[in-house]
Amino acid sequence: MKVRVRFAPSPTGGLHLGGVRTVLFNYLFARAHGGDFVLRIEDTDQARFVAGAEQYIMDCLQWCGLEPDESPVKEGQYAPYRQSERKHLYAEYAQKLVTEGNAYYAFDTTDDLERMRREMKKDEHSVPQYDKTTRMQMRNSLTLPADEVKTLLDQGTPYVIRIKVPADKTVTLTDMIRGEVSFDSNLVDDKVLLKADGMPTYHLAVVVDDYLMKITHAFRGEEWLPSAPVHVLLWENLGWKESMPQWAHLPLILKPDGNGKLSKRDGDRLGFPVYAMNWTDPKTNETTKGFREMGFIPQAFVNMLAMLGWNDGTGQEVFSLDELVQKFDIGRVHKGGAKFDFEKAKWFNHQYIQHTDNEELAKLAAPYVEKELGIGNLDLGLLSTVVPLIKDRCTLLPDFWEQGHFFFRTPTTIDEAAIKDKWNDQKQQFFTAWTGILTATDNWNHQDLENSFNEEVTKHGLKKGDVMLPLRIMLVGGKFGPGVFVIAEVIGKEETMKRIKHITG
Ligand code: GLU
Repeated sequence: MKVRVRFAPSPTGGLHLGGVRTVLFNYLFARAHGGDFVLRIEDTDQARFVAGAEQYIMDCLQWCGLEPDESPVKEGQYAPYRQSERKHLYAEYAQKLVTEGNAYYAFDTTDDLERMRREMKKDEHSVPQYDKTTRMQMRNSLTLPADEVKTLLDQGTPYVIRIKVPADKTVTLTDMIRGEVSFDSNLVDDKVLLKADGMPTYHLAVVVDDYLMKITHAFRGEEWLPSAPVHVLLWENLGWKESMPQWAHLPLILKPDGNGKLSKRDGDRLGFPVYAMNWTDPKTNETTKGFREMGFIPQAFVNMLAMLGWNDGTGQEVFSLDELVQKFDIGRVHKGGAKFDFEKAKWFNHQYIQHTDNEELAKLAAPYVEKELGIGNLDLGLLSTVVPLIKDRCTLLPDFWEQGHFFFRTPTTIDEAAIKDKWNDQKQQFFTAWTGILTATDNWNHQDLENSFNEEVTKHGLKKGDVMLPLRIMLVGGKFGPGVFVIAEVIGKEETMKRIKHITG
């Protein structure tokens, strides 16, 4: 049977890094088994629908290089891939469940439900829910006479269809990460399957679509584990047990201190991104920062995510996507949550910067440099020359500006205080003499520049160290940057002379 996996997000906002990790594990599994990776948009909850979120999710997958084989914009044999466009498919299955006694119509109003919750509370049930203990006291097709039910339906009375969870049953599933997981059906509530507006809930839609789309393996976040017994019961009751996908519930990604699930708020609080890309909430216009805009290379981001809850047992941490396809094994994913460590995420990016080809890096860094310069057509040749000179000092892509702005623009702030105290006539004379030599030279390369500098140092009875820092401050503006003669070579004769004269007068 052909392996088919799916990522099934609800388009409700930004894409959390845990979501991208789910995408990645699906993608790796599909690639390793010659299977299909499907993107299905689960947009049946109209109240939570957010405009633009679907496009954003697809853009994130594209940025990460984890593109689906089938999706709403790349339809395959199982189209449509948006649940709202599949609305007509679900009711029939809900009806079948009712007819066979595995689900029922419920006519309860909001008031009825509230009353139930209030009254049951008194009855010592800490979490009153619609289930085997309460359902027989509610207004549904199990408690009302058949003719009344028919009349209510004929009159168009609003109703939902609920699953009838059997009592005293152990519902078991085999999870590829957790092994056998069992649930006591007495603790599972009668979840709504079909809503009053005719839309399925997630629980019905996920099962029907996984079946119709011939999904063989369903990997999703651990937060869905409590819903799994409902899904297993639906697979059984719809007569599809044989086709049920193999499950894997992926461990949570935890806050850096390990205390609970990592949320967007933690990122805001601790100053790191949690979403893959910048997300602007269309209602509040508030933008939440993403890894992309912070300056992560997508391959580094993806590699970092692979290591959140998985390793190949050898201690290797840097893997290309192809290597991950070869080596990833869902059975080796840990059960326990994985702590997110932003410093480690940056470490991955630093590693990738060191190993990415300079021309490629120049393309990646260009938008950040262009933004600072307020231009849109940066000379990529110049940036490719600069990149290898400073990449060891760069962790995130904006660092190429921080570490190399003086290659593109005359420094606007000069740390004159760093040289003022030790400045004297002798140094002044040295720079006047050296710039005189530079004016006459045609050999503008770092080696010749350094040689003439050294000769002039000797002639003036100075030590090289006396004038090296002043030269650096003149060219760079501060005490940083790569070799000072290399900088002079790259910025060119005219600019070098201008910067020296700017200080020495
Ligand atoms: N629509 C669910 C979500 O938003 C999908 C869960 C699943 O994969 O079954 O995460």
